[in-house]
Amino acid sequence: MSCIFCRILQGEIPSARVYEDAHAVAFLDINPLAPGHTLVVTRNHHSRVWEVPEAELAGLMAAVKRVSRAIVSATRAEGLNLLANNGPVAGQVVPHVHFHLIPRRNGDGILPEWKPREYQPGEMDAVLKKISDACAE
Ligand code: AMP
Ligand code: ZN
Repeated sequence: MSCIFCRILQGEIPSARVYEDAHAVAFLDINPLAPGHTLVVTRNHHSRVWEVPEAELAGLMAAVKRVSRAIVSATRAEGLNLLANNGPVAGQVVPHVHFHLIPRRNGDGILPEWKPREYQPGEMDAVLKKISDACAE
């Protein structure tokens, strides 16, 4: 078993667990963007969010909600980012589905601001059709 999160779940590698249930395990990120930065991972190994069966994903999201509330309450954060990297191009280093729960404070500057762009003529309609057709598959 080479997946580092599977090894954590099996207890082969220590972790600072804050919560666990049938579908999810939550532990502190070892290199946090802020104190309390937590990872909520699926109990079973899946690489990408869209590969997780619905019931497991629902369980994961219930744990994400519970731990989010706990982090905000316990750290007195002013907000919280939920982030799931999927695929290396999106910054995923550990290919085991997980959400980052990152407590935020005004002026902490820990995530870069997005640089939104505008759609070119026809571009929005084209991508809308492709995605809505794929949703129907
Ligand atoms: P990602 O880039 O979304 O795949 O994020 C993987 C995260 O896992 C990074 O933020 C790492 O700091 C974190 N990480 C890696 N190894 C461990 C570990 N042994 N315990 C806790 N967090 C870890
Ligand atoms: Zn795994």
